[in-house]
Amino acid sequence: MRRVYMDHSATTPMDPEIAQSVLKYMVEDFGNPSSIHAFGREARKAVEEARERVASAIGANPAEIIFTSGGTEADNMAILGVATANCKKGTHIITSTVEHHAGLDTCKHLEKNGFTVTYIPVDETGRVRVADVARAITKNTILITIMHANNEVGTIQPIEEIGKLAREKGVYFHVDAVQSVGKIPVHVDELNVDLMSISSHKIYGPKGVGCLYVRKGVRLTPITHGGSQERKRRAGTENVPGIVGFGLAMEKAVQDLRDEAPRLTRMRDRLIKGILERLDHTQLNGHPTERLPHNVNFSFQFIEGESLLLMLDMKGVAASSGSACTSGSLDPSHVLLAMGIPHEVAHGSLRLTLGRVNTEADVDYILEVLPPIVERLRAMSPLNAGYQVTARECSAHV
Ligand SMILES: *Cc1c(COP(=O)(O)O)cnc(C)c1O
Repeated sequence: MRRVYMDHSATTPMDPEIAQSVLKYMVEDFGNPSSIHAFGREARKAVEEARERVASAIGANPAEIIFTSGGTEADNMAILGVATANCKKGTHIITSTVEHHAGLDTCKHLEKNGFTVTYIPVDETGRVRVADVARAITKNTILITIMHANNEVGTIQPIEEIGKLAREKGVYFHVDAVQSVGKIPVHVDELNVDLMSISSHKIYGPKGVGCLYVRKGVRLTPITHGGSQERKRRAGTENVPGIVGFGLAMEKAVQDLRDEAPRLTRMRDRLIKGILERLDHTQLNGHPTERLPHNVNFSFQFIEGESLLLMLDMKGVAASSGSACTSGSLDPSHVLLAMGIPHEVAHGSLRLTLGRVNTEADVDYILEVLPPIVERLRAMSPLNAGYQVTARECSAHV
């Protein structure tokens, strides 16, 4: 059976060449970068070369990169670190309702510890309005944290403008760029950001590694304590193989962007058009144009995302759904709900995220197998009473 992986926003396969380098730093050059002998020096050199690669990919200085265990730790480090270091200046934080849980739950944690958080709503495309952010800033605001692009619906936020605003008001600005790096241009000065989270496994690097960019001069309290690694900002022996792989993945992601982004966009748009042509009672979620090149997110009325995922899986297709039943909760995605999509429509959502391994033939395969599955589920679904009525009403008009 054909297998089609279209879940690249969940994770990506590691680049085989990068995997070879990672292996080398596990087996041969396995030293601890803090050791002074040759093994240690070799590992230190590899870590610093990776730091230069990561920094240069986003227009940063190597000293501004703190390696972390991934996007989640980077988000936690940014939000908790800025809040703790600047709490004498103020205790108010601004974020959006559509952030990744790594950001949202960290903000909720701070709310339990005396901080106040404003959650900026989004419009029906998933975008925050810059004016809403401007209005939320008070004398007590120390941090704005808003993601560059949404992991579920692919909507790109007006980061440059928010960054300009934050700078004018003297408020730190953190951006979760986990989904945007390698898909659209990401440059820390052009985006006016002070802190930025990146994860390696979303860009064909190894899992369990990433970084937080911290602009020179930003006051940040460490969230881990122990050794003096990462300029005393993140204690713990460096994940040398992971860091090496992450550095190479960043370099390649930025090099490939020019060719890969238009290729992904073409496939994305053919998927969107093809599905909308083949199925009624179907809507595209997210912004029509301010959208990541590899993201497709639909709601199919009268069906449940989970059943759809299972049936697609039986056809060899790996996708994901906007409802979080897989994580043990029956609530649909907080992102779709924040965009004003009704519960029952949000339940029938499907996310397809394209990547390097996908071809036009994969798009053809999805367009072949997806519509009959949706039709079959609708015929079986108890939710389709509405659908039958609509269909009857429709034929009555013909
Ligand atoms: C995947 C993801 C994260 C978490 O990154 P990990 O490296 O998996 O911890 C954070 N934010 C966004 C937007 C993501 O897509």
